[in-house]
Amino acid sequence: MSVVDLPSPNHAPRPEGLAVDVLVLHYTELPLQESLDILRDAARELRVSAHYVLAEDGTTYRLVPEDRVAWHAGRSYWRGREALNATSIGVEIVNLHGDRHDYPPRQIAALIDLCRGIMGRHPAIVARNVVGHSDIAPKRKIDPGLRFPWRTLAPAGLGLWPRRGAVPVAGEIEAALQRFGYPPAVDVAPADIVMAFQRRYRPDRVDGVADPETRALLADLLDQVGGAP
Ligand SMILES: [Zn+2]
Repeated sequence: MSVVDLPSPNHAPRPEGLAVDVLVLHYTELPLQESLDILRDAARELRVSAHYVLAEDGTTYRLVPEDRVAWHAGRSYWRGREALNATSIGVEIVNLHGDRHDYPPRQIAALIDLCRGIMGRHPAIVARNVVGHSDIAPKRKIDPGLRFPWRTLAPAGLGLWPRRGAVPVAGEIEAALQRFGYPPAVDVAPADIVMAFQRRYRPDRVDGVADPETRALLADLLDQVGGAP
C-alpha cells in the first residue's frame, strides 16, 4: 500500500481517557486535488479534515495522525455517543457521488488494507463500529452512498452484513435501530433513520418504510451483535 504524507493543519488533541472506537467512511464529493486542498486549508470558516484520503488509484494520503482529532463527522451519533470526531478515525474516499459512481476495485482493495491497519491499531473499533457518514448523521449526510460495497467489506471485518431469513423485528422499529447504534429521531423524522439503515443494508429500495424485509435485516444484525446496545 502506498502512503503519502500530506499533513493538514486542521486537527486537535484527543480527549483523555476515551478510546478511539469508531471508523467513519466518507466520499469526498470532489476530485482528489480539490479534496486535498480543502481538507488542508486552515483559512476556511468551517475548517475540515480527515485522517486519510483515498484516491481512485488506491494511493493513500495521510493528513492527520491517528492520535489527533480530525474534523470530518460534524454533528453525529452512534451507540449513545455524540460528536464522534473525538473518538473516531475518518477516511475520505475520492468519489464524486457514491449513489451514481462505482468505487473502482483497486480503490476498495486499498481501503480494506488501510482499514484493517487502523483496526489493528485501535482494537476498540469492532466491526459494528465501522460506519458510513450516513449512519451517524441521517438525512444530513448520504455518503459513502448507495454504490459503496459494504457487502464486499463485511467479510474483511469492516462492518457487518445481514443474512436473509431472520424473523422480523416487531413493534417500534426506532427502538430496535437505536439498539444497533442509530440515533434517536430527535431533529429528523423516524423515516429518515429507516432510510439511513436502508441506504446501507438494502440500497435497492430506500423508501423509509419499515417493511418486513427491512425489519428482518435489522433483526439479523441485532442477532449478530447479541442484541446489546
Ligand atoms: Zn462525509
